[in-house]
Amino acid sequence: MITSERFEVFCETLYPEEQGFLAEMEKYAYENDVPIIRPAARRYLRWLLATIKPGRILELGTAIGFSAILMGQAAPEATIVTIENYDKRIIKAKENIAAAGMSDRITLLEGDAAGLLEEMEGSFDLVFVDAAKAQYETYLKLLMPLVHRGSVILCDNVLARDSGSIIDSRYAVERRDRTIHERMRKFLKDVTSDSRFVTDLSMAGDGLFSITISQ
Ligand code: SAM
Repeated sequence: MITSERFEVFCETLYPEEQGFLAEMEKYAYENDVPIIRPAARRYLRWLLATIKPGRILELGTAIGFSAILMGQAAPEATIVTIENYDKRIIKAKENIAAAGMSDRITLLEGDAAGLLEEMEGSFDLVFVDAAKAQYETYLKLLMPLVHRGSVILCDNVLARDSGSIIDSRYAVERRDRTIHERMRKFLKDVTSDSRFVTDLSMAGDGLFSITISQ
């Protein structure tokens, strides 16, 4: 059987390492315990952006700007709005976005993602959801007025392999992780059975859930 770990090691032998500024940011993230999108999710995101060519991208969870800059490079025509609520990371993300020369295309909104979504207007072709894991269902509800038929909502970390796998029984999960476990399972169950969406759940990275708005 091919395990995802074996598969990931194989992919590392195929795909080139990050280069230039993204490589510097990746090093900083690993050294400073900043969570950033994993290689498998980066590959998928790059492929997706090349395929759907979004004009407007929204990201929930900027951290230090790694995935926003990656998307900015992979979709050179796109504008990106990204949201982060952790002051220390906001400062670093602003520095990085400026250093990448993308301040004119990437707008960083500071604050709680759900609160900002409630006030937001406009329409996005791609939304990358990578903020508070227990809030994914709330985010999806708030995102519905901000997307259109054909928009893609990509949710990262839905299997939470590091903190207690979502595919395991709730009893196998540490008590402190059970709320996230229950909410994520409910989110996946609700969305996969909702006729407004066509979805795919992949083991890539920490679990990638792709939702296309079909109605
Ligand atoms: N997308 C980033 C990347 O790949 O470079 C990584 C994002 S990291 C996994 C998740 C980020 O979401 C953290 O920096 C965290 O501070 C932020 N976050 C968590 N809860 C949030 C909330 N309620 N509102 C805004 N940001 C939030």
